[in-house]
Amino acid sequence: MNELAPHSMPKDIGWIEVIAGCMFSGKTEELIRRLRRAQIAKQKIRVFKPKIDTRYSEGSIVSHSEQSLPSTIVEDAREIIHLAKDAQVVGIDEAQFFSNDLIQVCNTLASKGKRVIVAGLDQDYRGIPFEPMPQLLAIAEYITKALAICVNCGNPADKTQRKIVSKERVVVGAADIYEARCRRCHYIPEES
Ligand code: ZN
Repeated sequence: MNELAPHSMPKDIGWIEVIAGCMFSGKTEELIRRLRRAQIAKQKIRVFKPKIDTRYSEGSIVSHSEQSLPSTIVEDAREIIHLAKDAQVVGIDEAQFFSNDLIQVCNTLASKGKRVIVAGLDQDYRGIPFEPMPQLLAIAEYITKALAICVNCGNPADKTQRKIVSKERVVVGAADIYEARCRRCHYIPEES
């Protein structure tokens, strides 16, 4: 996965990094890796996730490979501006579950000189761009598209296949109801 070389990191200004991808692409793992490296450099980090995502752990962000970092659950993205005021590096996971207020929040944090690292699903189970990720990708200085491996054919996968039928855009679950699929193998359950 591409990342800034430490010697080319911007100095004295903030910026936005977005890690986008489907489920099981290692987005949270990559977010945790970047935040850990900042911690090792003695930078003050704060990590946030939306209230909707309570799987695995209440107060932590947790990757599918069970790495974790303590995080604060917020209901409204605007709370992050106040809560992160002492942080140099701000991590935000599951960005697709925040409202579009997150766009302005990320801009505000970066304008205050903070490094903002946002991870989220870039498409819903139908393959439709999942707000506010498209807008965050547009305003970010650095973008990483994380790919998974299609469970059906082994090709690079960027779609989240839902294995149950539901018209709800958000159905919280993990490997029990989702898997990674490539463009060719992905389908929308209602239409099949
Ligand atoms: Zn496939």
